[in-house]
Amino acid sequence: MRIAVLTSGGDAPGMNAAIRAVVRYAGYRDIEVFGVERGYIGLVNDDMKMMSKRSVSGIVQRGGTMLMTARCPEFVDYEVRRRAAENLANRDISGLVVIGGDGSFRGMNALYKDFGIKTIGIPGTIDNDLAYTDYTLGFDTAVNTVVNNVNNLRDTMSSHERVVVVEVMGRSAGDIALYAGIDSGAEIILVPERPANFDEVAKVLDRGKRNGKTSAIIMLAEGAGPVDNVITELKSRLPELHFRSCVLGHIQRGGAPSGADRMLAARFGARAVELLESGVGGRVVGIKNNEIIDMAVDEALAMPHVFNDNLYNLAKILSL
Ligand code: ADP
Repeated sequence: MRIAVLTSGGDAPGMNAAIRAVVRYAGYRDIEVFGVERGYIGLVNDDMKMMSKRSVSGIVQRGGTMLMTARCPEFVDYEVRRRAAENLANRDISGLVVIGGDGSFRGMNALYKDFGIKTIGIPGTIDNDLAYTDYTLGFDTAVNTVVNNVNNLRDTMSSHERVVVVEVMGRSAGDIALYAGIDSGAEIILVPERPANFDEVAKVLDRGKRNGKTSAIIMLAEGAGPVDNVITELKSRLPELHFRSCVLGHIQRGGAPSGADRMLAARFGARAVELLESGVGGRVVGIKNNEIIDMAVDEALAMPHVFNDNLYNLAKILSL
């Protein structure tokens, strides 16, 4: 049996560890694996080569993706996808593991439905914005990166008695801000799912100051920004406070994957290969209550994003 693996869309720490897990587990099952470069672009252009157990040596600890990733907008076109499917068929490749986010899952589902390519998705995105799984690959590392950076910010902000607004990634999902906010003891967490009431935020900051807090951290998901707007709104209400901003940006997308993400990569990769070996496709793997699960990609993508209000409320209590 022959399968292929690719990484697509935004990169995330742990993608390399997942590639390694797919290649090594497939090798253990006597399945040959081709690595496709630059996501769907490589599939369309036939940029793929056979991988060996040794070709994935020394990557488990590396961020980014050795197969590189890209966006391929023309993949929505049936004829473009047909070329990709033909390239796979010409090499006798019957299964494809796609490591990426919801967009990448849509692409692989189209390949499955139109051409019967057995596809299995591994959720790789730092945003944790796929509702069917408790965690996506790369999220834990991104949260740790934010927390480590905020440790530094906290030092200088408390020396100078300032309020810092830290903008983190998350256009439509506030999970990085929520988790990193709790982990770093942020006074305020602003997320797209719960639009900010700046009068409330100002009240919390003012109360903190009167209770002896000399500095504060506001964790802002980019989808609830922009950061300048937040600072303008708060300055007009609290002119006596000194505000600074810090946009963490792409720092969050790189770095050595955390132990938790490497573990996810190992378990996701193994399950993906097992599913292909059993002859199924059009499915995605995930984790629920620490058990690896798999489900139809249609079902997974149809699940609405649910924001964790329990954690959000806990953050408010713990930062008083
Ligand atoms: P992510 O996988 O991180 O969500 P994107 O949304 O950019 O990233 O999607 C990655 C790629 O998946 C796109 O560049 C495109 O090639 C493919 N893709 C996304 N949506 C579709 C779709 N509806 N049909 C076919 N391919 C798609």
